[in-house]
Amino acid sequence: MTSAQLAFDRQHLWHPYTSLVNPLPVYPVASASGCTITLADGRTLIDGMASWWAAIHGYNVPELNAAAQAQLKQMSHVMFGGFTHEPAVELGKRLVDLTPAGLNRVFLADSGSVSVEVAMKMAVQYQYARGERGRGKFLTFRGGYHGDTTAPMSVCDPETGMHSLFGGFLPRHHFIRKPPPGFVAEVDSGYVAELAAFFAAHAHEAAAFICEPVVQGAGGMYFYNPGYLNVVAELCQRHSLLLIYDEIATGFGRTGTMFAAEHAGFTPDILCIGKALTGGYLTLAATLCTDEVADTIGRSEVSVLMHGPTFMGNPLACAVAVASIDLLLQSAWKATIGRLSENLSLHLRAAAQIPTVKDVRVLGGIGVIETRQPVNVAKIQAFFVAQGVWVRPFGTRVYVMPPYVMTDAEIKKVCTAMVAAVAQNEHFQ
Ligand SMILES: *Cc1c(COP(=O)(O)O)cnc(C)c1O
Repeated sequence: MTSAQLAFDRQHLWHPYTSLVNPLPVYPVASASGCTITLADGRTLIDGMASWWAAIHGYNVPELNAAAQAQLKQMSHVMFGGFTHEPAVELGKRLVDLTPAGLNRVFLADSGSVSVEVAMKMAVQYQYARGERGRGKFLTFRGGYHGDTTAPMSVCDPETGMHSLFGGFLPRHHFIRKPPPGFVAEVDSGYVAELAAFFAAHAHEAAAFICEPVVQGAGGMYFYNPGYLNVVAELCQRHSLLLIYDEIATGFGRTGTMFAAEHAGFTPDILCIGKALTGGYLTLAATLCTDEVADTIGRSEVSVLMHGPTFMGNPLACAVAVASIDLLLQSAWKATIGRLSENLSLHLRAAAQIPTVKDVRVLGGIGVIETRQPVNVAKIQAFFVAQGVWVRPFGTRVYVMPPYVMTDAEIKKVCTAMVAAVAQNEHFQ
């Protein structure tokens, strides 16, 4: 890339959550292959982020390239209204098989946020179909993240999720403090009682409870005991609410099970997936639901689900998703996540002794160092690039979720850089 191109980027292109007045630095990428990102100046970075949970097989994957190239020769896109095609059907079959039993109906959406929009509309339409016209609210945990479009934003954490800025614009839903921390911590009966009281107060006007099962991602890289999900599921049943799991981050093996829902005992009524769905190649997401939800909507006077994006069921994305799922299932993915987990624990452990560090935690293929002070993103990022790794922290979270194909030596290199980074005071605000 030329310096003129970089100057254009700085002047004209918004990057995620940045200012165009004083943008954070960006690093020009020339290519990516395996777990290595090559910068335009020739430097290479081991990628700890998997492009935000997505590139589970790494980059430039022969099987995914072949699927995309084969599909391009057939068609890149055709409208899904009035047409169907093999990639969509084959993907649908795999998703029905792979997701928790009972989730048989599939809506293909074009991004994670859209799949959450669809899930929320589905829940409202379901309640409407049952004659429950006053159930337009949602219940959720604080600390969640569900995407950046309006409906998902309205159920994101009200403090970190910009509710004050968009206060006059966003619908108001009901929040309960997030479950106590720790995947293996005991279920706290006091919190269970709070949940029951929360439902008793608000369930009558709510369509569904929505949450990220077990791992809250962009809201804080926070892990909690799956036992609370069973409590929520029972309360949903008792109060006739649907249960929506947002597994856009946790799906496809990341937490050690194919879906995080499997850590708990209940199938949700609605499930959102995205991110790793196409192995990080193309934007695609899906909202799955039970027969009960689909049939109730379908038999109602409205009868149709009121959503239909232009690029719904995009054949190119579906074909790559099919190849990505097949590649995952052919691999020893459970053992792979176990190996990632052990390596992350082994190499991040040293951070727990550092005074700037509040907590170190690992679950499946997710490793988190929580710091006491927010990091200076530009400074810590420059340090990581100088070390030859790619880690992109936010706030007080320095975290990784590497591609599953990362070698032990590569994981060690990424973790060593993370531990070294948080030991330096100048990396904090
Ligand atoms: C990333 C994410 C989303 C939003 O997905 P986009 O594809 O960015 O719209 C929603 N929910 C969770 C849990 C996510 O991690």
